[in-house]
Amino acid sequence: MPLVLIEHSGGQVDELSQQALALARGFATGEPVNALLVGPEAQDAAAALGAQGVATAYVAEHDGLDSYAPLAWARSLAELAERTSASSVIAAGSERGNEVLGHLGAITGLPLAANCIAAEPGEPATVTRVRWGGSLLEEARLHGAVKLLTVQPHAVEATPADQPGAGAVESFAPSLGEADLAIRVLERQATDTGGVSLSDAKVVISGGRGTGSAEGFAPIEELATLLSGAVGCSRAVTIAGWRPHTDQVGQTGTKIAPDIYIACGISGATQHMAGCKGAKRILAINSDPEASIMQNADYAVIGDLHEVVPAIAAEVRKARGA
Ligand code: FAD
Repeated sequence: MPLVLIEHSGGQVDELSQQALALARGFATGEPVNALLVGPEAQDAAAALGAQGVATAYVAEHDGLDSYAPLAWARSLAELAERTSASSVIAAGSERGNEVLGHLGAITGLPLAANCIAAEPGEPATVTRVRWGGSLLEEARLHGAVKLLTVQPHAVEATPADQPGAGAVESFAPSLGEADLAIRVLERQATDTGGVSLSDAKVVISGGRGTGSAEGFAPIEELATLLSGAVGCSRAVTIAGWRPHTDQVGQTGTKIAPDIYIACGISGATQHMAGCKGAKRILAINSDPEASIMQNADYAVIGDLHEVVPAIAAEVRKARGA
C-alpha cells in the first residue's frame, strides 16, 4: 500500500500534500493509504486524515525531529516503508518533498520520478511527469520494488476521498543516528510577507526588471496590502538583489496557484511562467505589447507600471470609499 509523506502547518494538512494524497489514492487502486507526519502539531494534522482516505497516520517521534531535517525524514520514511511493506512512497513535489524523496532514493537505491501529474500502477508503473520547467510532459516507466514519486504542485486536484480510511493515528519512533541529523533547521527568520505566504496567496502581484529598482516595488507592495495579496518577483529581480529569493516565482522559485496573478514589468520567460501557470487568471502590466507574457495573459494593460499600478490602487480605494 502507498505511504504518503504529509507536510502540514498549524495542525492543518498542506494543500500540496492533499494533492499528493489524491494521486496516491488513484495509484493504490483500492488498497488503503498510510501516511507519515513529522514535526510539531503533527498529531492534530494526523487526526484529520481518515476523511482523506488514510488508514493509519504515523507520527514520527524523536527529539531530533522537532525541526526540518531532510535526511532524518528520509531515514524515517525508509524505516516505515519497510515496516508497512509499502508498495510506493509518495510526497508533494514541494521543495521539501523533492529533497526528502531524493535522499530516500539515495538511501534505498530506488529510482525516483519527480513532479508526476499522473501515475498508473504496474510492473513497471507508468508515470507522466513535468520536465524542463513545464515545457514538456514525459511519459516514463518507473521500476523498483517500491515506487518513489513526487507530485507536481497544482497539477492534481485535491479531491476528497470517495471512502474515508480507518483514520488510526500511531506514534512511530524511527531509529536515527547523529549523522542523520547533521542537516537540520536550527533557526527561522520570518519574512515580511504581512502574513500571506506566496504559495498559498489568492492574489499575487509580482514585479520584474521593469520595476527598475528595489524602491520600484513600493506601489506593488501597496497594492498587495490593499488586496491582501503576496508580493512576488522574477529572477532578474532576485539576481539584481532587489528582493530575496523567497519572493521569486518560477522554475527555480516558488510555484504559485492564485486566483489572480498580476505580473508587472515581467517579460514572461518560460522559466517564469513555469511558476505561475497554476494561476486561474493572469493580468500583465507591461509597456511592450509584444512581450511574450501577452500570450499567456487573460488581461493586459499596456503602459508604464509606475503609472498603472498606483492607478489601480487608487481605483480600489475609491471603490471601497476610502
Ligand atoms: P526581462 O525579461 O528583462 O523583462 C522585463 C519586462 O519589463 C519587459 O517585458 C519590458 O517590456 C517590461 N518593462 C520595462 N519597463 C517597464 C515599465 N516601466 N512598465 C511596464 N513594463 C516595463 N526567471 C524567473 O522569473 N523565475 C525563475 O524561477 C527562473 N528560473 C530560471 C532558471 C534557469 C535555469 C534559467 C536559465 C533562467 C531562469 N529564469 C527565471 C530567468 C528567465 O529566463 C528570465 O531571464 C527572467 O524571468 C526575466 O525576468 P524579467 O521578466 O523581470 O526581465
